[in-house]
Amino acid sequence: MSSSGQSEVKAVRQRVELRDVTLRDGLQLVSEFLPTERKLAVLRGLVDCNFTEIELTSFVPPRVIPQFADAADVVHAADVPPSVCLSVLVPNLKGAKLALEAGVGKINFVLSASEAHNLANVQKTTDQSLADFQAIATEMRAHGRDIHLSAGIATSFGCTIQGPVAEERVVEIAAQLVEAGAQEILLADTVGYGNPVQVNRLAGRVADVVGDVPLVGHFHDTRGLGLANIVAALDAGIGKLDVALGGLGGCPFAPGASGNVNAEDCIFMLESMGHPTGIDLKHLADVRKQLELWLPQERFTGSISRAGLPKTFQAA
Ligand code: ZN
Repeated sequence: MSSSGQSEVKAVRQRVELRDVTLRDGLQLVSEFLPTERKLAVLRGLVDCNFTEIELTSFVPPRVIPQFADAADVVHAADVPPSVCLSVLVPNLKGAKLALEAGVGKINFVLSASEAHNLANVQKTTDQSLADFQAIATEMRAHGRDIHLSAGIATSFGCTIQGPVAEERVVEIAAQLVEAGAQEILLADTVGYGNPVQVNRLAGRVADVVGDVPLVGHFHDTRGLGLANIVAALDAGIGKLDVALGGLGGCPFAPGASGNVNAEDCIFMLESMGHPTGIDLKHLADVRKQLELWLPQERFTGSISRAGLPKTFQAA
């Protein structure tokens, strides 16, 4: 962690960008279909809270995740100010082509560092998915439109199927993704196996090979270490993080897993630590409440929603 007083002062003023993934990761295991109109209402709420990037949906086959059967409709109907980046997740070239057709501005490709997880998820080896990413980058260059291309490495900190994932492998994959044209690299603790020491070390190692390409941290709170891992990621220089309303979300291959890092708790922590996020926490509570009413079957988590903000709270 920070060794000198000076670097601590510098760290305290660091602005942190939060990307909301409620409508993608948050909904991917929700069996009840949330109607398109309601997804768009959540989107408007998130925009009003000042999120600068929102992951809107996923272009995957509807038979795999029926929740995203309306992906193209959601993209077409999404109407946000130009300052808001709407991104979509794609697991392969076919998904990327559909996303391009729909007219998205940013594509978040994802593969798994764990060979077993990648095979279970997309029926391809990790190297085959890397080749897919190269094909996507080529396709996008040919397309001519200025589309931002992000690449995520799932199971970077361990895997429910395979167990350990070698850090060398994650570093090597990150370098190959950047070489192929990734403009952002996301390190994902898909199944909540990471701890703060590991996160700090791996983020530092990956930062060493990606040059100026920014890193994003994606943590799940499966075993209660989500916020601790976020602090470790910040300390390693990561300036952008994924969060979801009410801690929704999960991975189909991580049974019993609770979801993403809770947006409200994360914003409370960051602002209290002096990191401005720009997010309107009070409005966010209203958006969460509405979604909770629409998804009565789901378990929403969070300490701030339960205990409220302390009287001493001051936004950064
Ligand atoms: Zn996730």
